Amino acid sequence: MPGMEFFGAAERKEINDVLETGILFRYNHEAQRNDIYKAREFEAEVAKLVGAKYAHAVSSGSTAVLCALAAAGIGAGDEVIVPPFTYIATVEAVLMAGALPVFADIDDTLCLSAEGIRKVVTANTKAICLVHMCGQMADMDAIMDVVNEHKLVLVEDAGQAMGASYKGTSTGLWGKTGAYSFDFFKIATAGEGGIMVTNDETAYKHADSYSDHGHDHIGTNRGMEKHPIMGFNYRISELHAAVGLVQTRRVPEIIQKNNEHKTRLMTALGQVPGVSFARIPDADGDSATFMNLLMPDTETAGRVVIALNEAGVGGFNYWFTNMYHFINQWNHVKEMRTAAALPIEKFGAPQDYSNLDIPNAQDVIGRLISFGIRAGWTADEVDALAAKIEAAVRKVSPVEA
Ligand SMILES: *Cc1c(COP(=O)(O)O)cnc(C)c1O
Repeated sequence: MPGMEFFGAAERKEINDVLETGILFRYNHEAQRNDIYKAREFEAEVAKLVGAKYAHAVSSGSTAVLCALAAAGIGAGDEVIVPPFTYIATVEAVLMAGALPVFADIDDTLCLSAEGIRKVVTANTKAICLVHMCGQMADMDAIMDVVNEHKLVLVEDAGQAMGASYKGTSTGLWGKTGAYSFDFFKIATAGEGGIMVTNDETAYKHADSYSDHGHDHIGTNRGMEKHPIMGFNYRISELHAAVGLVQTRRVPEIIQKNNEHKTRLMTALGQVPGVSFARIPDADGDSATFMNLLMPDTETAGRVVIALNEAGVGGFNYWFTNMYHFINQWNHVKEMRTAAALPIEKFGAPQDYSNLDIPNAQDVIGRLISFGIRAGWTADEVDALAAKIEAAVRKVSPVEA
């Protein structure tokens, strides 16, 4: 997961370019900025990395998801299918767009499944906000079948999966629009930041305007610009963009290292009784920021989590801890509680959020323990971790041969 591992001289140099001019705003100020446009460079770098025609940088991954939804035409009262296992930002972004979340079941990919989508899709469904979880990717052939069958708009929250792909196409580029996060914990960080990507020129223009109060960004005089649409301020600063730019360049190497470590861990642990792994639909496209271990049942997973804690080994568990990624921890979402009015009050809830039929999510997330992979690990460190995980598993589940 580890952009933060590699903050160094290159990041400092790019930040310093901005500090030299003092122009922290991404637009205008041509006379003073000495041709330094870090946000633009950042966007070009991400577009190149993932193979997108257009990329637009914003203030966070959360606002990138919102811009991706808005630019895909998702708005007031639209029903949008979301997973019950994601970072909360996905659900919040749908609500911020004025749209209504509809939860569908996931599968052992940790992502929405075509089967789960089919169970909840109705004539009112406008879009899917698909989330690629834990550095891996959804089963895209099956997902695209259901998207095409029901003529749905696909928006991808690839907040955790920038650089991942399925059969050669990057996560984020399967649908109309996609989003990546550059917060401090992601594969590349800008401190805070996000990027919206698309191959659709109109969607790009809308995202560009939407994230800056509707400015069209034509010409060099901000005071003379037109405002074709309304939006809000989701702009990224030049300082954040400078960091994101360097970090994006590091991603191919990070992904390669991550994959080496993940393969080594999975090979070591694959022989341990009771251990299996979340399904990776295309292992060649894994960003490998996490190794996602599945235990045979929730109860065993709980005991392994305790044993791992005792051994001082970090592992993310979304069931027994208050990690903010699973609907069982989201009572405020089930009750749609927030500080202000929600689209639910006007349009009505499309589902009973406190009584969802998501058996696979309840099974898989109960059995999941994810381990963040650090690109900077040595092979010895990977082996030591594998040994500790194996010891924790064997301690609690002495399984028959
Ligand atoms: C991190 C994350 C976000 C939000 O990104 P921020 O940059 O923290 O706002 C959105 N969706 C997913 C799936 C994420 O993991």
